[in-house]
Amino acid sequence: MEKTKSRLNIEQWVRPNVLAMKPYSSARDEFKDFECEMVFLDANENPNRTLVNRYPDPQQSLLKELLTSRRGRKIEELLLGNGSDEVLDLIFRVFCEPGKDEVIILPPTYGMYKVLAETNNIAYQEIPLNSDFQLDTTGILKSQTENTKLLFICSPNNPSGNAMQSEKVKELIENFNGIVVVDEAYIDFSNSESWVNAIGTYNNLIVTQTLSKAYGMAGIRLGSCFAAPEIISLLNKIKPPYNVNILTQNYAIDRIRDDEGIQSEIDLLITERNRLTAALKTVSFVDQVFSSDANFVLVRVDDADKRYRQLIDKGIVVRNRSKQLHCENTLRITVGTKQENDLVINTLKEL
Ligand SMILES: *Cc1c(COP(=O)(O)O)cnc(C)c1O
Repeated sequence: MEKTKSRLNIEQWVRPNVLAMKPYSSARDEFKDFECEMVFLDANENPNRTLVNRYPDPQQSLLKELLTSRRGRKIEELLLGNGSDEVLDLIFRVFCEPGKDEVIILPPTYGMYKVLAETNNIAYQEIPLNSDFQLDTTGILKSQTENTKLLFICSPNNPSGNAMQSEKVKELIENFNGIVVVDEAYIDFSNSESWVNAIGTYNNLIVTQTLSKAYGMAGIRLGSCFAAPEIISLLNKIKPPYNVNILTQNYAIDRIRDDEGIQSEIDLLITERNRLTAALKTVSFVDQVFSSDANFVLVRVDDADKRYRQLIDKGIVVRNRSKQLHCENTLRITVGTKQENDLVINTLKEL
């Protein structure tokens, strides 16, 4: 896959002020050697040693080394942020001129793309997924205007759970006149190949990932994106220098090193997802269980509002997705522990 297909001129889609900008250089950018015995009087820190009296590494070098080696990429191809929500916001701010540019989003999908578009005063076009929650490539390509900069593809998709057909994603990356962002928050639960492997082939592709789901660290807020080095440098230019704090970096470094532990948790969640899917199909008022590549299952029931409330009364909180396109009367159920899944299955069967 590493054969370079086409090197597009990325600068044509970048906001002129960002292109012109020089990155802010923080004290710790100038002197990076954290481990050595130097006297640090450069950053107005309090010298009294605690675990956190020093500013964190603004480039998160050690953490990036671990993550890139696991995904088979280079450090210059990775950016880290305070959750993938921050990474997505940085992508908006590098490419989209407020009040002028546009993005395309594909409902039903993750709500943050729209929130970030609105926050940044960027117009969005919504091109619905088809009723199988797959990509309408013709509709997407047809609706692009000269001001469309970004296309957001969530795969596996939240809330439907399916991965997008890779031929169609490829068609979009190759034909969309702008940047294609593939959000892979759930990729570790899927059999589909990660688009991270295509970063060397397409320089208009950004793949976002997160440590919040499969890696079990939603609380530390750590998200990432992989892209060609030229895109990563642009994002680095505008990111707050110390956007990933020391506690987060250290915690993630420790946990990521336990590859086997993480993989066995993922394997167990996949087994539980498949068991939950099968069990839900036997519930009398469940009309449809959508097949999932993620750690949640979308189900269509007879009356979602009623079933949602009944579950709340039994102390179980799921997500009612009924207001989303193609999602009438659906609930999204996250895969829990074996005991939690047993509880939700038994509770539903007894309603
Ligand atoms: C949960 C989720 C994320 C994660 O966001 P973080 O800010 O990294 O926690 C990103 N994208 C999608 C589609 C999600 O469902």
